[in-house]
Parts: sequence; structure tokens; C-alpha cells
Amino acid sequence: MTNLEARPTEQVCVAGPAADVELVEPRDVPLGGPRAMTVRRTLPSRARSLIGPFCFADHYGPDDVAATGGMDVPPHPHTGLQTVTWLFEGAVLHRDALGSEQTITPGQLNLMTAGRGICHSEESTPATFPDRPVLHGVQLWTALPESARHGDRAFEHVADVPRLTVDGAVLQVFLGRLGDVESPARAYSPLVAAQVDVPAGTRVRLPVDPSFEHGVLVDSGALRFEGHDVDPAWLAYAPPGRDVLVLEAGDRPVRAVLLGGTPFEEPVLMWWNFVGRTHDEVVEARAQWQAAIAGDAAGLGRYGEVHGYDGPALPAPELPNVRLRPRDRAR
Ligand code: MN
Repeated sequence: MTNLEARPTEQVCVAGPAADVELVEPRDVPLGGPRAMTVRRTLPSRARSLIGPFCFADHYGPDDVAATGGMDVPPHPHTGLQTVTWLFEGAVLHRDALGSEQTITPGQLNLMTAGRGICHSEESTPATFPDRPVLHGVQLWTALPESARHGDRAFEHVADVPRLTVDGAVLQVFLGRLGDVESPARAYSPLVAAQVDVPAGTRVRLPVDPSFEHGVLVDSGALRFEGHDVDPAWLAYAPPGRDVLVLEAGDRPVRAVLLGGTPFEEPVLMWWNFVGRTHDEVVEARAQWQAAIAGDAAGLGRYGEVHGYDGPALPAPELPNVRLRPRDRAR
């Protein structure tokens, strides 16, 4: 084949920014408590609820724990989700209704599977870890599919996650699979979560599963993702169909978290700490938590209780005066 145009025009063939990439701006959310630590939330956002099964993404720090008070989250319930804890700095002490008592530090994964119900507490205060003055990390949730969301609660700690190097970037795959590397932690739908460290001045062509949609949450440095500049704390989204993601670091190294998965097609209704499907499910989950903290046997059966936390459990907020409706994946 040849170009039959008599007077061909000049064309500059440089890949521009991908038109289908979305940029999600973080919003500040106080976690609550007397000296509220503030997190930057990108999922769920007005424009996007889910990336694969990831339905929640909070990014926090680096925080001087002595100044902010750190993290002190009393026992609270979850249903229908996994909580995924990953730190860049500091430490968090996790306790749950299975009797788990686990400190997590950078490079490690804490993965809690709520199934039908669990409760846990999270602490990282100057008193908890006097030698860890800075707290910095991400808190993610995945929505469990129908096959797992009524199942047993579980907790896993991975002390050393697998890693791979691509074009000079180091990827720590803490959940799911990337290339030939797979986290030992149990996931319930096809997904990936990995810390990505790109050296300054480096362009990375990262092979990915084309059936996945992906997000990149930037922690530090100036990232160019698929031709778009992404500032720290922002999330860039790319829909399915790519077998390579292009990540470039400017004059500073980039640290980011890659999220991905097959689009989660089940309806998801999130309210407070519950992931369900319908208004009535959430109403029942809330009522049973309130019963559990009042000592009721059925409530305790659903959520269990946390031992060792110094203080009362967190009561659920009041439900809004409207019926809750599932969110669309994206508007
Ligand atoms: Mn929690």
C-alpha cells in the first residue's frame, strides 16, 4: 500500500495524551475523632465509583503523628468488602473479631475480608508506636462479588510481597497479579494492586491485562500517565483495552499505586462501612451492628467483637431519610 495523495501534508507522529483517560481530583475527608486525621479520597468520587472491584481509595500523609494525633479508629463493622492496607511510612496496629493483632509496616500487606460481617480497630498514635513519628499510606477497599460477600470473615498478613522490575521501575504487587508475579493474598475477582516506583527521567511501558481497567494514584513526584500530567494525590483512570500503560517520571522519582481489575458489573451500594446491594441490606447491617455493640447475641454473631482496644466501639451514624440506591460505576 502506498499513499496516493498528490500533495501529502506533513504529519507529526507523536503520541499525544490519551483521550479516554480520566483524572479524579482528591477531596479532603476528616476521619473523625477528637483530633481528626484528614485523608484525601479519590474513590468513590462523583465521576467514578469503581476501578475493577476497588470501591474506596484513601491516601494519607506524610503526617507528623505527634501533631495530628495519628490514627485511632475504634472498633467498627464491615460487610461485603475487603480492606487493603498499604503503608509508605509508619506503622498501624490492626485488631479484629478473629482475634488478629497485627502490626503492619511498609512493604507489607494487611488484607481483611469482611464476608457477611467483621469488626476491627486501627491504631497508629504516638503512644502506639513511639519510634514511628510519620504515618503515610493508602487504605483501599474492594467490593466482594456475590459468591464471596456472604462468606466467612478472614484476615491475612503478607510480610514480604512479590516484586518485579519493568524498564527500571520497581513494582511491589501486594494484591492480585501483574505479569508473572502474583500476591499470595486471596482476592475474589481478577485484579491488581501494586506500589510503583519510577526513577526520575524514566519512561516505563508496563504490560497489563487488556481486560482490566486501571487507575494510578500518585503519592509523590510528577507522573505523566498515558500523556497526562497527574499531580500527587490525584487518580488517573484508563478504561479496558490497553495491553501497555505508559508511565513517565519527570525530574523527580515517582511513587504511585496501581489499581486494576475487570470492571465490576454487580450493583454496589456503599453506606458508611457497609458494602451491599440494596437499601434493606444496609438497614439490616446497621441495625445488627447497633445490636452487637449493645451486647445482643445475633449482632455479635454477625460481627464478633474486638478485644484489646482501649475504648468503646463506634456507633453507626443515622441513616438518611431517603432510600439508598446503588451507584453507577461511572457517570
Ligand atoms: Mn475499617
